[in-house]
Amino acid sequence: MDKIRKSDAEWQQALTPEQYAVMRKKATERAFTGKYVDNHEAGLYRCASCGNPLFSSDTKYDSGSGWPSFTAPAGQENVEMHHDRSHFMERTEVVCAKCDAHLGHVFPDGPGPEGLRYCINSCSLDFKKGEK
Ligand code: FE
Repeated sequence: MDKIRKSDAEWQQALTPEQYAVMRKKATERAFTGKYVDNHEAGLYRCASCGNPLFSSDTKYDSGSGWPSFTAPAGQENVEMHHDRSHFMERTEVVCAKCDAHLGHVFPDGPGPEGLRYCINSCSLDFKKGEK
């Protein structure tokens, strides 16, 4: 996949302050504050900064965590996993494969056949109602 590359200043220009903090600086939005936590409409969640298709509403479920949660990405090629040892935790970071934006983390306690929970910040997503 061709990567989108911008300087730090360019990303700061292109994103809202919240999106910049989450997507480029790996911050986490507060639980239950994101706009898609309780979204149950059918559609496609794209990357808020590059439009890459990331998650389908078909895989979204209520995890109770306070963040939009999915059992699988829209395509394995659209996300990358990085080992994350920050904050004294061992976690797997989920990143947009096209623009390297931090999206959230994936945990091994999901309900689907893969047993995965993709825990994603709402502000890193752009929901397109009706898209597949
Ligand atoms: Fe992206």
